[in-house]
Amino acid sequence: MKTDIEEVKKNIETLRKKIEYHNYRYYTLNDPVITDYEYDTLLKELIDLENKYPQLASPTSPTQRVGSKILDGFRSVKHPFFMYSLDNVYSMDEIVEYDKKTRKLSNLPSLEYVCELKIDGLSIRLRYENGKLALAATRGDGRIGEDVTENVKRIRTIPLILQKNVDVDVRGEVYMSYTEFKRLNSIRQRQGLSIFANPRNAAAGTLRQLDTSEVSKRHLDSFMYSLEFPEKHGVKTQWESLKYINGLGFKVNKESELIHDFEEMKAYFEKYEKLRNTLDYPIDGVVIKVNDISIQSSLGFTSKSPRWAIAYKFPAEQVRTRITDVVIQVGRTGILTPVAKLEPIKLAGTTVKRASLHNFDYVKNRDIRIGDTVLVEKAGEIIPQVIKSIKEERVGNEKPIEIPNSCPVCKGNVGKIDKNDVAIRCLNPDCPAKLEGWIEHFASRKATNIKGLGNKLIAKLVKNGILKDPSDLYELDVETLSKLEKMGEKSAKHLLDQIEHSKEIPFSRVINALGIPMVGDGIAKIIAERFHNLSELSNASEEELMQIDGVGEKVAKSIVEFFSKPRIKRMIDKLISHGIGTSRIAPEFKEKAKPLNGLRFVITGTLSRPRKEIEDRLAELGATVTSAVSSKTDYIIVGKNPGSNKLSKAKLFDVKSLDENGLEKLVSQLLKKRL
Ligand code: NAD
Repeated sequence: MKTDIEEVKKNIETLRKKIEYHNYRYYTLNDPVITDYEYDTLLKELIDLENKYPQLASPTSPTQRVGSKILDGFRSVKHPFFMYSLDNVYSMDEIVEYDKKTRKLSNLPSLEYVCELKIDGLSIRLRYENGKLALAATRGDGRIGEDVTENVKRIRTIPLILQKNVDVDVRGEVYMSYTEFKRLNSIRQRQGLSIFANPRNAAAGTLRQLDTSEVSKRHLDSFMYSLEFPEKHGVKTQWESLKYINGLGFKVNKESELIHDFEEMKAYFEKYEKLRNTLDYPIDGVVIKVNDISIQSSLGFTSKSPRWAIAYKFPAEQVRTRITDVVIQVGRTGILTPVAKLEPIKLAGTTVKRASLHNFDYVKNRDIRIGDTVLVEKAGEIIPQVIKSIKEERVGNEKPIEIPNSCPVCKGNVGKIDKNDVAIRCLNPDCPAKLEGWIEHFASRKATNIKGLGNKLIAKLVKNGILKDPSDLYELDVETLSKLEKMGEKSAKHLLDQIEHSKEIPFSRVINALGIPMVGDGIAKIIAERFHNLSELSNASEEELMQIDGVGEKVAKSIVEFFSKPRIKRMIDKLISHGIGTSRIAPEFKEKAKPLNGLRFVITGTLSRPRKEIEDRLAELGATVTSAVSSKTDYIIVGKNPGSNKLSKAKLFDVKSLDENGLEKLVSQLLKKRL
């Protein structure tokens, strides 16, 4: 038996060393080389061994500690209470177990929980004295953190002065939104700096940045989620804590819900697992907290985590796999994008076989090669991306990824359009890949949203010479479509219905659909405020376009150049003849005259029309539609089987409720008033 225990001891030591190494890479260097799932598996293995062989446990084991060492350059701060981490689980079964164990420990048949989103950022503690921000500290190793007060003062959602003159400690998360993350990375890429792998790394790298002015330039954000010593403030539950903190002036995540049973909990997980990619902030799971603070106190803590809370992590968004080959894709603007073919691997519920490598500069800067072991991540994107290659695991036969000499689709010349361009493009204007990409963009969700027109069908229609530009879509008929392989009459009719339906979209989406260089859906919306149909827009001069707030010289030039091409002129005439982009919104509907301008709506339940249609109509009339009810919501539109959480929040904030008829009445009343 002695040899057995020696063996276990050796295993434990190896695991501890490995975990310490990965802690250092993750927390101190901000540069992990394994995925979170792999890390959690190593840690779980160690915890299981230490539980089974308590004689081998050690106070210096990574199972007994949280976080990281302090970075040089920051003052260290001793926390007045331990800043705990959370235990993680990855399945519903483990949640059932957790609930069972917690009820047993608290001697109660049922428990009320608060479910919150697990924000993927950096933990922060804020101390306010007499209502004024006195200290902001990172979690560090749980006992000692870094004083980042000066940096935190640059985060606009963290108040410097509270709404009440209280002494209070709150905890929360500092994060970076996806919009900001993309903006920051594109600037860094242009400046030739290394880009951040994900918003969490970007937030950590920013908050622990010694140059405060640099922090101001990157827009960090925050959500606060816990009140320390709640009893001092007369707060008895976690749910009340959230309201109390919000009342003090902190930004609190509005998606939290009070949960009474496992079914509600499950529904919450499933909802946010689906919605996570629609949020503009990163989340990596859900945190479940016992609501009653006195029960929390009786449950207490383990060495690392509270017993009254647990994190349910979503399926991994990051995995490790190998690049087996690289293919080059050609998009609508002719850009050649290297795409990695991967050893298939499960990532966030789907099997991933390919991942984007962005461009050839990205490949060169990160020295990514065919045969490399790589980290692949989804990070809020639909398309997975190769984040980094793990050089330590090279065996010597990896091959560099070369820029091709000609377009892989049409064999045309390739090159950069100017020396500042990072992209390599196909220079042949008639490349079929460009046409396919253009039509895919035209039919995409934020453009004409033609469902049933998939990439394969587009390729077939282009190959057969049926589509020469997007306007040809409106001349398709059942006969032509039915002749195509695998296209039955029913699917053909369905597609034609969808194409017909696409004539109804707001003008801003028509502008986006055209694929004018430098005009995305954001600028398209601004342009549609000034120009109301294709005929007006295609005849606009650079000067007229530049009068629009938000349209600069480059964009104006690009628009005029686009409409001046004979091929585009023909297409625009055809689109107009089919009723696309013809004036549907009267000029009086300019921003100020829009009847619902400035009003915020939330929709719940099933309506008589698809929700997207109603959302678009509300937006066209000037309203903002949000997914959650808050104190800023003006109206909630209630359909069949409404969500109880939205209704109870609407009641709490005195939000007016309307059904679909009520909405129509409101619109016509406001129209009479404003026009
Ligand atoms: P964690 O991220 O798993 O969970 C705890 C943290 O969640 C809290 O400290 C808090 O900051 C945050 N949080 C977000 N929203 C919250 C909410 N609503 N309520 C409460 N807390 C909320 O724990 P951690 O200790 O920060 O990090 C451990 C994680 O880091 C592990 O899951 C592990 O996968 C990862 N890690 C990975 C590597 C690697 O090499 N890949 C190495 C070390 C750690």
